[in-house]
Amino acid sequence: LPDRFAGAGVRDAEPFEIADAIDGRTAMIHWVAGPAARPSLDEVVAVADRAGLPVLVDAAAELPPATNLRRFIESGADLVVFSGGKALGGPQASGILAGRRDLIMAAALQQLDLDIALAQWRPPADFIDLSQLAGLPQHGIGRPCKVGKEEVVGLLVALERFLADDPAARRAAWRDRLLEIRHGLLGRRGLEVVLRDEGEVPLLALEIDEQRLGRTAFDLLLALEAGEPSIRPYSSEIHDRRLLINPLALRGGEPGAIVDAVIRLLETSS
Ligand SMILES: *Cc1c(COP(=O)(O)O)cnc(C)c1O
Repeated sequence: LPDRFAGAGVRDAEPFEIADAIDGRTAMIHWVAGPAARPSLDEVVAVADRAGLPVLVDAAAELPPATNLRRFIESGADLVVFSGGKALGGPQASGILAGRRDLIMAAALQQLDLDIALAQWRPPADFIDLSQLAGLPQHGIGRPCKVGKEEVVGLLVALERFLADDPAARRAAWRDRLLEIRHGLLGRRGLEVVLRDEGEVPLLALEIDEQRLGRTAFDLLLALEAGEPSIRPYSSEIHDRRLLINPLALRGGEPGAIVDAVIRLLETSS
């Protein structure tokens, strides 16, 4: 198994192994984007090209930067997906599928629920090539994942706003919310507050001194989640006694609510 993360090995799957796994039933190669992704997209695209297969990139969390909207396709991917509900700030049940027209048409045909005749259907010509259809497909596998018109329009508006935003100003606003939390929590015993200012989205790490607090970081996490308002730090570093705060969805006033909740918990601890 590829197991750099388990620590039992230092390698992931290699390009030759992906090539070896391809057979007549392989339709596409799925690649999940991320700083630690191995093999690289270039290597996977090379394998896919040799096999005549398309590559789909899961880039759900790869915005910002906005340049990523085009980067994966420019690097040879055939399709790319982005979450509508993360940094784009659009509807949670939305996302973008971009790339090769024929594959997007194939995906769109899987969403249909049209109890009409083919002759009645007038989809945009650059979206659906009617000349390729012998009939109107029945309910496809995408049907249970139907996206409402409200989500479609909401996502388009969110995308326009995201692209119109000044990236530096957006990041500064995220950082300011974290600094507000840090300011409110500085000097509290049992707690170190560290701003992680690298990366597209800054993070705030709350490092819990379990000894001094007489309470585990996991305890604090559960208490924050159970509070009113419910506060949901990332728990990915809970084993290192750290709670991580992501500012993406924080609005004005909410940093103060986080400070109040953490202080209340610290004061009722130990
Ligand atoms: C968030 C995420 C998803 C899921 O995106 P949704 O918009 O919530 O469906 C998928 N893949 C990766 C890599 C993600 O980070």
